[in-house]
Amino acid sequence: MKISELGEFPLIARASKYFSSVGMQNPDVSLGIGDDCAVWQPSESSYPSVLLTTDTLVEGVHFLQQTVSWRDLGWKSLAASVSDIAAMGGVPVVALMTLGLTGNESVEAVDQLFAGATECAQTFGVTIAGGDTIRSDFVIVGWTVAGTALAPDRGPARVLRRSAARPGDIVVVTGWCGSSAAGLDVLLRECGGVQSLVLAHQRPLPRVREAQWLLSRGIECATDTSDGVFESCRLIAEASRVQVNIDARVLPVHDDLVRFAREESKDYALYGGEDYELVFTVTPDALSDLLEEWGRSFELPLTVIGRCEVLPDGVQWVTVAHSPAGIHRFSHFGSETQ
Ligand code: ADP
Ligand code: MG
Repeated sequence: MKISELGEFPLIARASKYFSSVGMQNPDVSLGIGDDCAVWQPSESSYPSVLLTTDTLVEGVHFLQQTVSWRDLGWKSLAASVSDIAAMGGVPVVALMTLGLTGNESVEAVDQLFAGATECAQTFGVTIAGGDTIRSDFVIVGWTVAGTALAPDRGPARVLRRSAARPGDIVVVTGWCGSSAAGLDVLLRECGGVQSLVLAHQRPLPRVREAQWLLSRGIECATDTSDGVFESCRLIAEASRVQVNIDARVLPVHDDLVRFAREESKDYALYGGEDYELVFTVTPDALSDLLEEWGRSFELPLTVIGRCEVLPDGVQWVTVAHSPAGIHRFSHFGSETQ
């Protein structure tokens, strides 16, 4: 069987079978494969737990040179990994870059890439401390980022986890959904006029501060929307063994997305990736205080999009009420199924 027939998630499950097997488990690694970051607490150290993540963008797969400037590529490639730290409620600290180049790029272009990455690093307080440079048939930009978990004392790390949702919890999303994917289509169709969508695509803002705030308010379960809201809900549902029921009508979409995509806007909202918002869960009794306190701290909207239920027989991880007809799903290898 080919990898393209297997799909990304069964592939990761196979990797996990090897890498998490008996003899490979270190008790200091409290969270391994399956969340946005791994969590490592060196047993002898009083230092907070370390969060680790890596992400890679490949030309032709994740970006095209026509739709992203070198400077924006520097920003958004690092932002993708910073978002994984945010998805755990952590503090991003240090980054290593993997850079694959064909050799035909101009020096000025690659300087722009470094400049964009530096802007992102400064914005989120990250030190770029090393990396690797390789010759490659395509441009490859990858980042490994380490951060710290919010843990004032020794003891188990406090992190937001995909696996902490419970039946009855309310599902909430930050910001706007689908803007980045729509921004890409704006650029591909060269239609202009919807700058907020293009900006969301080129300069995404991982929700680092917001996630730390949520963690400090007792939220336990979250992930980012790097592959779209539907996918975030599926990741939470599967990791928490709950069913997540969402309503497409209430998904928050920016006015520019409605203007651009009209009746397809909910499609973008559900399945469009690279937004780097947070999907999290909260108990019903904590919801109204949380929404109120959030409103006093952030301008970014919070929107209730659904609810977690007991997983029924015959697993369906996510249901979407009033689902749009079309389906835009991003899949790394082309055969994802629920
Ligand atoms: P994200 O979208 O948040 O970056 P991914 O979907 O890429 O996360 O990965 C899901 C989980 O699988 C993560 O915990 C990641 O570390 C793990 N993972 C992905 N690819 C591999 C691999 N080749 N080997 C081991 N673990 C992997
Ligand atoms: Mg992630």
